[in-house]
Amino acid sequence: MLRRTKIVATLGPATDDLEVLTDMIRAGLDVVRLNASHGTVEDRRRRLAAARQAAHRADRCVGVLLDLGGPKIRIECFREGRVELAEGQAFTLDTALEPAAGTIDRVGVAYKELPRDVAAGDTLLLADGQIVLDVRSVGQTAIETRVRVGGALSDRKGLNRQGGGISAPAISERDREDIRFVAEEGVDYMAVSFARDAADIEQARSLVRGAGGDARVVAKVERHEAVDNLAGIIDASDVVMVARGDLGVEMGYAELTGLQKTIIHETRTRNRVVITATQMMESMIQNPVPTRAEVSDVANAVMDGTDAVMLSAETATGRYPVKAVEAMAQVIEGAEKYQLMHPRARQRSVEGVFKGTEEAIAMAVMYTANHMKVRAIVALTESGATPLWMSRIRSDIPVYAFTRHEATRRRVTLYRGVYPVIFDVTSSRSTDELYRALFTRLLELRLVDLHDLVILTKGEASGVQGGTNSMQILKVVLD
Ligand code: ATP
Ligand code: MG
Ligand code: MG
Repeated sequence: MLRRTKIVATLGPATDDLEVLTDMIRAGLDVVRLNASHGTVEDRRRRLAAARQAAHRADRCVGVLLDLGGPKIRIECFREGRVELAEGQAFTLDTALEPAAGTIDRVGVAYKELPRDVAAGDTLLLADGQIVLDVRSVGQTAIETRVRVGGALSDRKGLNRQGGGISAPAISERDREDIRFVAEEGVDYMAVSFARDAADIEQARSLVRGAGGDARVVAKVERHEAVDNLAGIIDASDVVMVARGDLGVEMGYAELTGLQKTIIHETRTRNRVVITATQMMESMIQNPVPTRAEVSDVANAVMDGTDAVMLSAETATGRYPVKAVEAMAQVIEGAEKYQLMHPRARQRSVEGVFKGTEEAIAMAVMYTANHMKVRAIVALTESGATPLWMSRIRSDIPVYAFTRHEATRRRVTLYRGVYPVIFDVTSSRSTDELYRALFTRLLELRLVDLHDLVILTKGEASGVQGGTNSMQILKVVLD
């Protein structure tokens, strides 16, 4: 049985050894995430090159996601890299402080408008809510606070105001530089942080297209406004990320589990891809094994139907980046085994109306695959659109996206139950030749055995995007 749910892992200082990165890919990493909130464009360029080299060494296709910094408000840096805040102590946030001059008493903030957005009596949350500050007074540049919940605080952690309401433009100057990077480097996915509505997603898409990039756009749902505009945001984007860190801060963490299930369900129903993120294996930053609660969290996301689960600091700065990927892969496989014993969630509404030929073919395929003993589904695809439709339906039959385009192969690495295969349809001159080439490829990759049944989808004119209009049930034979 192949693992169907995909793994996204963030690169950082802990993955800079090529050996480590290669082992992560061998352990099952499907998509690498570059977080533009940390480090420089040059760091990301170097890490992207390393990821491509490691994928080549591991002989696997790996997708790339760049996460834009967006309007996240962050503290600057500490002289020692981190401090330990004690409950009850005074602590100052100062927009005039030198960026690297943070101490146990005060730290800088790059967002100069912060004193205008904050008032005495407000609650500020740092590091996804791990540290809580009560605002006592606000001056020209300095915000005086008292620590309500203390703990370790390190460089460039996020800062939120409880209840939301910090104003900053959706896409900053720094983001524009990263958007150029996305276009130049042919990055597959670009995530928009703190998106509020469909317009933010459309703006990001037109900026990346304007720069010549073809990246698919990921909406990070992490704001109150995004939850209010959920359907519009999903429709405007290609992928949705349940960004539980900031979402938990803005909405209150008690809402998170229900929101996660709602967002995953809504996203899949609307034919978009969904990633579940933040603190999934958090204790593995320090420990070689996950807690039972983390195991359960990952498994539940899989059972909710997420396409991918994500690792952040576990791999970017953690002590066990390879083990974190291994543990995640194991937990996913364990969860998927049980899910098949309760396969009830696979049906779509029978009243729904199909929007086009591709969707209709994909639904016919999945209905057949789930009711007939077929070994595999083979989709001859240009852009990956038909496999995407197929992967919205729960099934235990693998979908192989056969394509000649490298960008399509990297794109489908994120889709649940879809696996990329290099295949050039245009090199077969007749249908017989095509079947022979297909079967040969399936057999040499050991994806099927002789005499297995497979379902094939293709268009009448091979090599044309949007042309899938037929489904065939074929027996694998070589004559
Ligand atoms: P986001 O809101 O975009 O998720 P984040 O600060 O939570 O931002 P993550 O990518 O989730 O960042 O990673 C978690 C932590 O790992 C960060 O807070 C940071 O301490 C560390 N980290 C991640 N990437 C890097 C990097 N490239 N360089 C240094 N530290 C990093
Ligand atoms: Mg975030
Ligand atoms: Mg995070």
